[in-house]
Amino acid sequence: MQLGPDFYTQQPPQAVAAPVWAARNTALLQSLGWPQELLSDSHLPAWAGNAVLPGSTPLATVYSGRQFGQWAGQLGDGRALWLGEAESAQGPQEIQLKGAGRTPYSRGGDGRAVLRSSVREYLCSEAMHGLGIPTTRALSLVASPEPVRRETTETAAIVARVAPSFLRFGHVEHFSGQASTDRLRQLADHAIQHHLPECHDRAPAWQGNVYAALLDVVQERTARLLAQWQAVGFCHGVMNTDNMSLLGLTLDYGPFQFMDGFDPGHICNHSDHQGRYAYARQPNVAYWNLYALGQALMPLIGDSELTVQVLDGYKTLFPRALGDAMRAKLGLTGALAPESERDKDWQLVEDLLQLLAAERVDYTLFWRRLSQALASGGADLDAVQDLFIDRARWQAWLKRYVQRLNLLPGTDLAQVGQSMLRTNPKFVLRNHLAEIAIRQAKLGDFSEIATLQDLLHSPFDEHPGFEAYAAQPPDWASQLEISCSS
Ligand code: AMP
Ligand code: MG
Repeated sequence: MQLGPDFYTQQPPQAVAAPVWAARNTALLQSLGWPQELLSDSHLPAWAGNAVLPGSTPLATVYSGRQFGQWAGQLGDGRALWLGEAESAQGPQEIQLKGAGRTPYSRGGDGRAVLRSSVREYLCSEAMHGLGIPTTRALSLVASPEPVRRETTETAAIVARVAPSFLRFGHVEHFSGQASTDRLRQLADHAIQHHLPECHDRAPAWQGNVYAALLDVVQERTARLLAQWQAVGFCHGVMNTDNMSLLGLTLDYGPFQFMDGFDPGHICNHSDHQGRYAYARQPNVAYWNLYALGQALMPLIGDSELTVQVLDGYKTLFPRALGDAMRAKLGLTGALAPESERDKDWQLVEDLLQLLAAERVDYTLFWRRLSQALASGGADLDAVQDLFIDRARWQAWLKRYVQRLNLLPGTDLAQVGQSMLRTNPKFVLRNHLAEIAIRQAKLGDFSEIATLQDLLHSPFDEHPGFEAYAAQPPDWASQLEISCSS
């Protein structure tokens, strides 16, 4: 809104028939310090898009982007409406409705989101938050019987999302390469002033060039985000530049997946025929996307060598962040290890990942059981071994790991295990768990969404009685096909 009309089009939401609450996030509401009545029945029409909140001027923003490696030209909020910005206990927050009807950027789409994908977005953004991974949040989920046509006829839903900013790489790409750089500069300055003021402190490191510093900040946040995704086994599925947050948040939940059996080549998006966004490729794709951002910022940075130099930072920052994240998963935290130690630890990680991949061992279960084994002082080690067929290979790796643990100063293995239990989650939003919640929601029963929300809010806690939610997926889970269609 502060940016001016070149950046958006005002657009009221389109009403839906017979809206009902499918989920409400009172924990988020409280943490933002917003009044409880915002999620009371009197506000249901506003979160359904059937009424406009007082003081709100809904609008759709314009952006562009590269989709599956190709320049896609102008895109924009085709089904998301920006309702405004509000102060909160955690700083100013923007609010969006996703699925609230057509906008000038809908490009033939209906501006709607189906219940299936909305349940997934609502739950996954909260799961990511519970895991400590930067993400947009979800405040409410409203369902409507209104029909929405996809491969079959489904029903509509509207998610209210909250984030300090929904700015994407694609916003920058859109205003780059135009005859005048005024808009681009206005956008970049807005991002720096309102959302990334640390760019000013970092500018001296880049010859006083604040736009190079902006790229550096985004590069660093993206590297850290990707390290967290990889460490937890999260596949985004559609890492197009229009789905990349300038703030380094996980954004636009579509065909994402938390891996079950570990497979570096895993492709979670059924529409991704080339595997461009396969799990192991995500870090490189992020780099490619940062390159696109760097190119888009070139008219402001004005120095291609400097731009490349900034982007080079990712090549050391990402492996370092991933190495640290994986070492933490193994309980190898504490004093910063010298470089040679880090290299050795990384070898330990790589060999483990190869072992997990060779047997498609369940990624989340493995880490959790390993953590428990240590926390129990070794008593629960059999439960880890049970995950492997090639036990000799597992034993050989374990021997090296125990040797490494014994090098930790004053090692108390049970204590290391406790810290690992705070690092390796028991609960992630596996596809089949989301699917069960979706099937029930389609029948008008939203209780499973609430159960999952509760578990995923504190995924490191044991939650006695909910073991089934942390177990191996059932056979039918591998048949689930999740595509871009949403
Ligand atoms: P996505 O693949 O969900 O990130 O969407 C890519 C682009 O298509 C974005 O600009 C969306 O706003 C737009 N889009 C996706 N689905 C719809 C829809 N049902 N109606 C209108 N626009 C859509
Ligand atoms: Mg998108």
